[in-house]
Amino acid sequence: MPIDDASTRLAEVREKIARAAHLAGRLPESVELIAITKTHDAAAIQPLIDAGQCVFGENRVQEAAAKWPGLREATAVALHLVGQLQSNKAEEAIGLFDAIHSVDRPSLVHALGKAMDKTGKRPVCFVQVNISDEPQKGGCAVADLAALLAEARAAELPVGGLMCVPPLEVEPAPYFALLAKLARDSGLAGLSMGMSGDYETAVAIGATHVRVGTALFGERA
Ligand SMILES: *Cc1c(COP(=O)(O)O)cnc(C)c1O
Repeated sequence: MPIDDASTRLAEVREKIARAAHLAGRLPESVELIAITKTHDAAAIQPLIDAGQCVFGENRVQEAAAKWPGLREATAVALHLVGQLQSNKAEEAIGLFDAIHSVDRPSLVHALGKAMDKTGKRPVCFVQVNISDEPQKGGCAVADLAALLAEARAAELPVGGLMCVPPLEVEPAPYFALLAKLARDSGLAGLSMGMSGDYETAVAIGATHVRVGTALFGERA
């Protein structure tokens, strides 16, 4: 995508977030836009950094490790992990990321806790909920959420909120509303929900973090 398009699209997405926030009686600044850069190379990402975007997300540790150290040299940007994390990569993830949105099982909670104790770095964590109880999907079952949150607190993970990816091809609003209720019931303020196709809906329902890739960069190869 030509360079100009990146900043134009960024402005459009920000405007839509601001409009959805205003309609919901919220401040636009209460919504963090995470630009999801998976599969995109440095040449595609740099224009967004130049346009002032400073929070980015990747879904794989390996890819982020290869791409971001160089990009981050010149500008301070925050990097979030939004994809599934293997326990044996917990320490590497903590070294790379400022937030982890995919905490979804006790073994990972313990691996992250250990790695945080060892490194002294404590990135904000979101507990991912399998909000539609789909088999094969990341996220803890709704029924297991309270127990997992208790384990995360015991391991001193700084849990900031909940995250979900609703099922494809269905109206996402009811799932966003359920995640918002679960967060409220758990006393958590953060809500990581909403992607390119549904981030305005997510903001209307209370998203504090939206994860947007395609609307900023175009379709992934
Ligand atoms: C890729 C990805 C996104 C961004 O999806 P788009 O539809 O391209 O905006 C958001 N969240 C997660 C977990 C992803 O893997």
